[in-house]
Amino acid sequence: MEISKLGLSIGESMTLKLNETFGILKAKGEPVIHLGGGEPHGKAPLKAIELTNELLQTGVVRYSPSIGTKELREAVRDYTYKFYGKKPELKNVIISTGAKQALLVAMQAVLNPGEEVIFPKPYWVSYPEMVKLANGNPVAIDLKNPGFIPEISDFEKALTPKTRAILINSPNNPTGIMYPGSLIKDLVSFTKEKGLYLIMDDIYHRLVFDNLKHPSVLDYASGFEGSHIILVNGISKTYAMTGFRIGWAVADSSLIKVMVNLQSHQTGGPSPLLQKAALGAIIDDQSGVEELRSTLEENRNLMLELLKRLDKVKIYKPSGTFYMYVDFSAYEPDSMKLSAYLLEKVKVLTMPGKAFGLDGHLRLSYCGEADEITEGINRLVWALDENITEPLEIGTQTIFKD
Ligand code: PMP
Ligand code: GLU
Repeated sequence: MEISKLGLSIGESMTLKLNETFGILKAKGEPVIHLGGGEPHGKAPLKAIELTNELLQTGVVRYSPSIGTKELREAVRDYTYKFYGKKPELKNVIISTGAKQALLVAMQAVLNPGEEVIFPKPYWVSYPEMVKLANGNPVAIDLKNPGFIPEISDFEKALTPKTRAILINSPNNPTGIMYPGSLIKDLVSFTKEKGLYLIMDDIYHRLVFDNLKHPSVLDYASGFEGSHIILVNGISKTYAMTGFRIGWAVADSSLIKVMVNLQSHQTGGPSPLLQKAALGAIIDDQSGVEELRSTLEENRNLMLELLKRLDKVKIYKPSGTFYMYVDFSAYEPDSMKLSAYLLEKVKVLTMPGKAFGLDGHLRLSYCGEADEITEGINRLVWALDENITEPLEIGTQTIFKD
């Protein structure tokens, strides 16, 4: 039997696939180290568990309104006001099954078949596939300058009559780079002037380092009604709650209404249990977020320090997230090959840059423990530095240079 062209055009999420590979190897007792992960360690905030438990204990868990529960939308409204200084109304907020679904329904709501969404390379793995799922054409653009910060002219060059939206993520997965306020400001006015939507994926907005302030699209927006800005956020990264699958979008109310209609036929709406968990996380004391943020900053510093021993890598220092996007092309230009080699030879899992549209790089994550980062980078240095000739101990095994 035939399978649809759309279905066949969608590739597997490499990040999720390699996460799975890691789990399988770990379960087999392999001494594998994950430097590719996309989720912070640590537990969900206590209040998230308490509120979920309370509802679960009643035994009465029904459908949620497709737009999300009122209490969680109120919490998101207040969250937006607290962190962005602008207060949406409840009609401007939709709760989805992860930021992933919020992004997808946003694209489905704005794209006609064949219309284009522009985003910079490297990009988060799911962006091109999401645009395709929404019947659009993904347009991933090369950047003029090194350092992963686009210029307006990079976007301008890619504009066509079919361009419908620009999609950005800052701080960025996979680079960890945060865009300056001046660029965000210019993007807000450029997209407005050209009649485009600006979809801002803000999922890492509180995981920012070096006392920097996160420049936000809402700094330059006058309000929500009639706005061309779609702001997407969620609990996965900030609260280490990836498996709870709650995210949201804040936008113009007529657009939200269409997103709700779409969602009502997809998942119906996110589970009320998990919305309770998200509510708990948002209203709980926020000290866990600062703890996570500062641990990630220390981890970033540690990883940068350890990588200094590889004199041929090129790194742009991340200002946020828990990723860095390291240029290993002087060692091996094919990132799939390099990633497979590191997993095979020294049991270190990394994410090949090819998955993010820019080969020659590996995405390294520092969301794990400091000792894992140290051990992982030590193994990586051993595998790549030709001057090291002595064998390496991994668990009970001794590995020799080829
Ligand atoms: N955007 C980016 C840039 C991400 O890294 C992720 C991580 N999965 C998401 C969106 C989706 O997050 P969620 O877990 O809320 O679906
Ligand atoms: N966003 C994370 C990553 O890029 C989690 C995996 C996923 O959802 O793709 O690794």
